[in-house]
This record gives sequence, structure tokens and C-alpha cells, in this order.
Amino acid sequence: MMRPAVFFDRDGTLMREVGYCSNPRDVAVLDGAREAVRWLRGAGFAIVVVTNQSGIGRGFYTDDDYQAVHAEFLRRLGEPVDATYYAPEHPDVEPSRRKPSPAMLLEAAEALGIDLRESFMIGDREGDIEAGHNAGCQSILVLSGITEASQTTAAEFVCRDAGEAARWILDQCEARKAASLA
Ligand SMILES: [Mg+2]
Repeated sequence: MMRPAVFFDRDGTLMREVGYCSNPRDVAVLDGAREAVRWLRGAGFAIVVVTNQSGIGRGFYTDDDYQAVHAEFLRRLGEPVDATYYAPEHPDVEPSRRKPSPAMLLEAAEALGIDLRESFMIGDREGDIEAGHNAGCQSILVLSGITEASQTTAAEFVCRDAGEAARWILDQCEARKAASLA
């Protein structure tokens, strides 16, 4: 049985953007992030984190540093996630699994049995929005990271943070359910 997922970018979406976070002490969970994960998991979505980590490829921090930061992030989030995928490549490396490539979303879909057409991507950069679209998902831009409200976007919805994004997704599901019963 296939299930839908919500793919979350990490930095600037669930975790405060500090620019190449390499120290667990700098980890802070953003407002709305915990609730978003809890509500969406409760609604039956798989929760998958997909994060570009070019700081590894650039030599700013090691894979072990990334793992320590991510473990602290998950501990502070305090809600289970089904899987995390990360792309350590330098942006100049080709081919790349980095967003906007859908590679990490497709890997998750294969591993977890995800129906991409019923899934959503939430992120704070246009590369996240494109990655979602490239995987066949709807995409939501959050303004809790680096993108400004004035920027043009291909996202289906733009909102303040992950909590608002989750509410919009749940509204879409209700509307679909109502339409299928009508
Ligand atoms: Mg981000």
C-alpha cells in the first residue's frame, strides 16, 4: 500500500538557518516545526527530511559533524521522522543528488513506498520548490529561512513557516476528501 509523504527541507524550514551549521550547540528548532511534523504524521503522511549539505563537499565540516548536528536536531525536534536523506556534494560536482534534483525524493519513494503524486515538499529555497515539482509533488515555500516574501516562486503556496504549511496541506486533503464524496 503506497502512502503519501511530506518532504521537509531542514535548514531554514525546520531548523534555524545559521549558514553551514556544524556545531550541535547552534541547533534550534523553528516555531511551528514540531507541530507540523506531529499533525502531518497523525494524518498518515510519511515524514522525510531531504537536506543539501554542501558544507561537507566544500570542506567546511565533516560527515561526522553533520551527523552530530542532525542527531541534535532530531533530539530537539522531539517527533519521529521516517527517514533523512542528505546530499554532501559540492555544487560543482556532476551528476548530483542535490536539490533541485528530485534524486533524494525518488530514493525515499522507492524505499518507503511513497505515492509522489499525493505528496508535498516544504522548503525555504526555490531549489526545494523545484525538487518537489521535479518529483511530481506539490511544493510550499516557507519564509522562515532565506527567501523573502517579494521573491517570485513556482510554489503552489507561500506561507510563514512549517506550521502554516502543514495546515494548508491538511486543508487540501479535506477539500479532496469532500470532493470525492460529493
Ligand atoms: Mg533550506
